[in-house]
Amino acid sequence: MLVSATEMLKKAKAGHYAVGQFNINNLEWTKAILLTAQENNSPVILGVSEGAGKYMGGYKTIVGMVNGMLEELNITVPVALHLDHGSYEHCYKCMDAGFSSVMFDGSHYPIEENVAKTKELVAEAHKRGISIEAEVGSIGGEEDGVVGMGECADPKECKAIADLGVDFLAAGIGNIHGKYPANWQGLSFETLDAIQQLTGELPLVLHGGTGIPADMIKKAISLGVAKINVNTECQLAFAAATREYIEAGKDQQGKGYDPRKLLAPGFDAIKATVKEKMELFGSVDKA
Ligand SMILES: [Zn+2]
Repeated sequence: MLVSATEMLKKAKAGHYAVGQFNINNLEWTKAILLTAQENNSPVILGVSEGAGKYMGGYKTIVGMVNGMLEELNITVPVALHLDHGSYEHCYKCMDAGFSSVMFDGSHYPIEENVAKTKELVAEAHKRGISIEAEVGSIGGEEDGVVGMGECADPKECKAIADLGVDFLAAGIGNIHGKYPANWQGLSFETLDAIQQLTGELPLVLHGGTGIPADMIKKAISLGVAKINVNTECQLAFAAATREYIEAGKDQQGKGYDPRKLLAPGFDAIKATVKEKMELFGSVDKA
């Protein structure tokens, strides 16, 4: 059964580790992440962007697939199904479809409007036992058309949004989505520390986890980050493994064209990436 992400992230923050949010794109992705979480006895959050939701045939399709796998693959570790960077309307769609967690990305609204909409969604989510993440300060890179420059959030604005009762908070600390450019300045631990000083026990979320050096990840966890989003890294691993298979001509040997064979190296690559992240984040054996 899906659970909200509130308890697992409270435990993570108190225990000084982080739970990975791994975005899903199809059945192989979902199965690879769930099996890896179970094998490593780790809590996990499945992230779904609006674009991926549309791609996979809609939110209800995803809820059906995930719930089916939890039962048939005997997944017993805590699993949350979370809308990533949701608009106001899609937060409602996902809550109606059976998601156990949503993120409202109101970072492009003026702060007053972000506050008003967040407040309403917090009340609605909590009425239904669903966890909710909010974002302050836009996170750089491009995610489903929302573009930012890797800026740092204002800690006072973070405090204002935290006080609305959100369960965990994403704040820009120089992190960006996608691949990091060669001239990237690194995370702003000063900003992260200032945010944690004002938001206390609230679990903080680090978006754009792909390509941040391991020592920075560990320092961010020590400063209150309890959820780290990983998306691009699984995509790169999947693409590289698939490319290798095709370039070796394996799809032309025997029944190598069978999708169950063709997609197997990519599936294994996702599993390896997820396992590596769970070890780095410290969530192994924390289910
Ligand atoms: Zn993000």
